[in-house]
Amino acid sequence: MEINYSNINNLSLQSIITSATYFFIREIFPKNKLHLAKCIKLTISRHQLTRLKTSNNTSLGLIYILDQGYKPKEFRISIRTNKVNLLWLLTTLAHEIIHIKQYRLGELVDTVHGSKWKGKFYAEVGSNKKVSKRVLYRRYHDLPWEREAWEKEDILFKKFINKHNIKLKDVKRCYFKTIQKQISGEI
Ligand SMILES: [Zn+2]
Repeated sequence: MEINYSNINNLSLQSIITSATYFFIREIFPKNKLHLAKCIKLTISRHQLTRLKTSNNTSLGLIYILDQGYKPKEFRISIRTNKVNLLWLLTTLAHEIIHIKQYRLGELVDTVHGSKWKGKFYAEVGSNKKVSKRVLYRRYHDLPWEREAWEKEDILFKKFINKHNIKLKDVKRCYFKTIQKQISGEI
């Protein structure tokens, strides 16, 4: 796997994010599908949170697929925060990595007609896209791929900090150097 950073210049923070990314991937990919994660190319960037909220999506992260198609390999995760808040950053990272798993395994497919999840098309209530056998949804949170990501993001985050004995208060205070040392086993 290849990870690149854009707009994240702190080296301790980069190394925390890299460790967390590998950890989340190993946790969320089924063991027999882990080889599919090897060729992933990932760019992680941070953007200022703009005042304009896009539609009903208040999520702090966005995922872009850079090589469109079935089971894509190249992604960009954009995390929108004004200040670096490590708690949000790692939880958002976990959320977006769950989406990468869904795309990479072909569970979630973006098509011209909308999104397809495990073989079923989903279309927003009131949308006029004509897709046969579509499943209508009302709210963003009702989407099964979003439900999986919302349900598992905290679990992944907690497993990661527990594994390295990282204190939640250090995460909240953004003690990057301390956390980096704990991850690398120096503490
Ligand atoms: Zn999501």
